[in-house]
Amino acid sequence: MSLHTSNPRSAPRVVVLSGPTAVGKTTVVKRLRAAHPELWISVSTTTRPARPREVDGQHYHFVDDATFDRMVEQDAFLEWAVVHREARYGTPRAPVEAALAEGRSVLLEIDLQGARQVRETVPDALYVFLAPPSWEEMVRRLVGRGTESEAERERRLATAREELAAESEFDVTLVNTEVEEVCRKLVDLMSSPHLTHTSG
Ligand code: 5GP
Repeated sequence: MSLHTSNPRSAPRVVVLSGPTAVGKTTVVKRLRAAHPELWISVSTTTRPARPREVDGQHYHFVDDATFDRMVEQDAFLEWAVVHREARYGTPRAPVEAALAEGRSVLLEIDLQGARQVRETVPDALYVFLAPPSWEEMVRRLVGRGTESEAERERRLATAREELAAESEFDVTLVNTEVEEVCRKLVDLMSSPHLTHTSG
């Protein structure tokens, strides 16, 4: 089926949430899942190993390289990308199509490469850029997380610098000063298809 949503006022919509690494996308999505179980949020497939407390099928579908390869061959991803030069991440296509067919808007939390791919196939999606309150705050969050090695952190910061420059490609910017506020705005955007080109 087509992923185009031709009647923007009544049709379900695809909302793409992206932004620099460590800006807090995962935290926002975690909060949204907990507070708004009615929202349909895509669960990505990844080849990276699960971190402590991550649950297969809930945070990600964790698969090996051969399985990911097979899914790529079968065109099972709406988009996929190598993120931070270490692992592959992809949005399974079929569940997104099923949700849209049920009349539900869908949220994809993906990196910038993925957002650019989705723009090719779903041009009328709403593209939301999650921005850090400041560069210093973003570095603090990345270092504070403590789950990456020094080299890995440097790689992610380099990527983040490039990603910050991509804000102008997006329809909406949300500044991640307060997670609850960002969640509220995302819920509004998922239910208000005509709201575009705003910031805050
Ligand atoms: P993490 O490994 O920290 O959970 O996520 C690393 C990065 O992968 C984040 O920037 C996240 O947005 C991105 N990511 C997660 N799922 C997907 C996906 O399905 N596609 C793409 N392109 N990026 C993803």
